[in-house]
Amino acid sequence: MIEPFVYNGLPARVVFGWGTLDKLPEEVDRLGIKRALVLSTPPQEESARDLAKRLGPSAAGVFPGATMHTPVEVTEKAMTVVRELGVDGTVAVGGGSTTGLGKAIALRTGLPQLVVPTTYAGSEMTPIIGESRDGLKSTQTTLDVLPETVIYDVDLTMTLPASLSGTSGVNAVAHAVEALYARERNPIVNMMSQECIAAMARALPRIAKDPSDRAARGDALYGAWLGGAVLALVGMSLHHKLCHTIGGSFDLPHAETHTIVLAHAAAYNAPAAPDAMARIAQALQADDAARGLFDLAKATGAKMALRDLGMPEEGIDKAADLAVQKPYWNPRPIEREPVRALIARAWAGEPPQVS
Ligand code: NAD
Repeated sequence: MIEPFVYNGLPARVVFGWGTLDKLPEEVDRLGIKRALVLSTPPQEESARDLAKRLGPSAAGVFPGATMHTPVEVTEKAMTVVRELGVDGTVAVGGGSTTGLGKAIALRTGLPQLVVPTTYAGSEMTPIIGESRDGLKSTQTTLDVLPETVIYDVDLTMTLPASLSGTSGVNAVAHAVEALYARERNPIVNMMSQECIAAMARALPRIAKDPSDRAARGDALYGAWLGGAVLALVGMSLHHKLCHTIGGSFDLPHAETHTIVLAHAAAYNAPAAPDAMARIAQALQADDAARGLFDLAKATGAKMALRDLGMPEEGIDKAADLAVQKPYWNPRPIEREPVRALIARAWAGEPPQVS
């Protein structure tokens, strides 16, 4: 039976396909941008220069300085360029780090953004921005940072290394898993989340074996869009909080941490969210949701233990303390001992278990 719900649609134009970058000039034009600043990380500068070339006179310049965690010092440098060049819109090409810089500029200027994602992080679909100052990260949600247009071009994801593809893909699955048991879930979010998980379950093991599999790359980018879209629509719970706490406290890599923690967080919530677990298991074509998520992560070839990412064993207690200290909504109450057991299993790389 359908339950009552509230659905908040978000305004974003999505152009999806292979070779869709050809549409860049007309999409930039559609936003009324005449002097675009093209953003990227230093390793993706060549892509940024290629985009600027495609834009011809509509490109004012390239800023290839985006880095992880959107540090305000980097944003301030980019803002100087925005002012000097009279920029009237940004084009970000890259993963969540580059998208984050575009959002930070939009937050300060209100300029329109076009994003060309090349990972599966999903930030391009959300009105969420995390910024770091002196090593401390703060997050806010405002429609001011939601990109106006997103061009998904599968061809640009072909160079994403197999390892990063796997962890970035599971990161998208994590958005969908938590969306399925979110307080604000609704039938649209359920459909999109299940479709995300199914697409990623089809794609990720194939990409791990053959990163040049274009059909699998298409499924993964489609799943990434869906994962980002549901992240934007509902609140996240235990899994995302644990990843932020553990990642932040021990300086662990973002997508890799998600990949390890997800199955354990799902096992923790399983007794309190049977409908979500049934949907996850169905999408994964697995008997059990948590075990299915564990097997999917393993099939990407990713590291399966937090200790292999450099988390010290003493960190297990610290992480458990932090998890219970900051209250947030979760389908199952957050209790220290079972949360500690969850973290200990993730640290050791053991299979998930309800505790
Ligand atoms: P990333 O953007 O840092 O990219 C990782 C590295 O891969 C970079 O060096 C990048 O240049 C390179 N790269 C990206 N695409 C490539 C490609 N196709 N080929 C070769 N190299 C490529 O990593 P990410 O996982 O995309 O993003 C992580 C960041 O995004 C985190 O800071 C996270 O907090 C943030 N994030 C934000 C949201 C949000 O809604 N605000 C959502 C998800 C993630």
